Amino acid sequence: MPDDTNLVCVKVGQRQVTMADSPVPVPGDGEIVVRTTLATLCGSDVHILDESPLNPATVPPGLAGQPMGHEAVGVVHAIGRGVRQLQPGQRVITSCFTACGGCIQCLEGQLSACTGGGGLLFGCQGRYYRVGFADISAAPIPDDLTDEQVLFATDIMSTGLAAVERGEVGFGDTVAIFGQGPVGLCATAGARARGAGLIIAVEGVPERIDMARQMGANVVVDPADDPVGVILRLTSGGGVDVAIEAVGIQATLDMATRVLRKGGTLSSVGIYGGLPGVTLPAGVPSFYHRKVVSTLCPVGHIRLKRLMMLVQHGGFDLGPLFTHRMPLHEAPSAYDLFRSRSGGVMKIALVP
Ligand SMILES: [Zn+2]
Ligand SMILES: [Zn+2]
Repeated sequence: MPDDTNLVCVKVGQRQVTMADSPVPVPGDGEIVVRTTLATLCGSDVHILDESPLNPATVPPGLAGQPMGHEAVGVVHAIGRGVRQLQPGQRVITSCFTACGGCIQCLEGQLSACTGGGGLLFGCQGRYYRVGFADISAAPIPDDLTDEQVLFATDIMSTGLAAVERGEVGFGDTVAIFGQGPVGLCATAGARARGAGLIIAVEGVPERIDMARQMGANVVVDPADDPVGVILRLTSGGGVDVAIEAVGIQATLDMATRVLRKGGTLSSVGIYGGLPGVTLPAGVPSFYHRKVVSTLCPVGHIRLKRLMMLVQHGGFDLGPLFTHRMPLHEAPSAYDLFRSRSGGVMKIALVP
């Protein structure tokens, strides 16, 4: 039952989260407030939490810390002035980034790069959260889809598939995917759905190796077993058509470049935020005569609707990625579990 208190997971210091009470948010112009029915946490949350001290500018008045979380679905609790497409009581999914719809980037379709006031959502790991530019950033959920089926469209499904789309994976292509965390697994499933031929995943965690096969990888190579040598042997020395980097460290970026055939595409979705910089090899093989692309999560209601169509009618099933289920008020423990990568943890469903 909704009540007048919002319990939300907040960052109170570097690597420190707690649950805090605050008033239920009130929607401003163009905004909605969503009553959360399912949320989760992701690698980006851990980057935000662990890699910098608390920035006081991110703490809203009256709250103990920075509200956390950008991946959730729920029911529209209240709408602000000017919202036209959504009604209270509707089940909705929200993109992890909001977008204004009017700036140059939005008008060119790059909504996640919005410079008109959009940005990463915060507070989704709470009973209620506020969403700006709601007509653009949220979409109703079809009645026959569950929260669990659509939640990943908020971020990791969109990001993982975008790595495949931006890499222009075609029918029969050979694809190497470095890292089989949640985004890497979505890329594997996306490459399979897009008609790739041989899919080679690079991953060493046992549960993730199994999951990679389940999502469509033909071969899984342990990073300790000379993946560059193995992948070159599997491709008769020629290299892969598309290499996807989904870890966010120098070593895998380097390997992804070295297994790529001339004319191939290096598609990067790793978050290198914890590093001062990254380099690409300039010897042989090198990034010369290859295309290099990087991707932020594509967002917006049109993207959300298309991803949900893929789940609804295209048989696209990421359900196995939910390995754990915890009550929302245990979100701080969920961070510890997620960070530890123990117990086969992949994605944790947080239930209010
Ligand atoms: Zn995320
Ligand atoms: Zn914009």
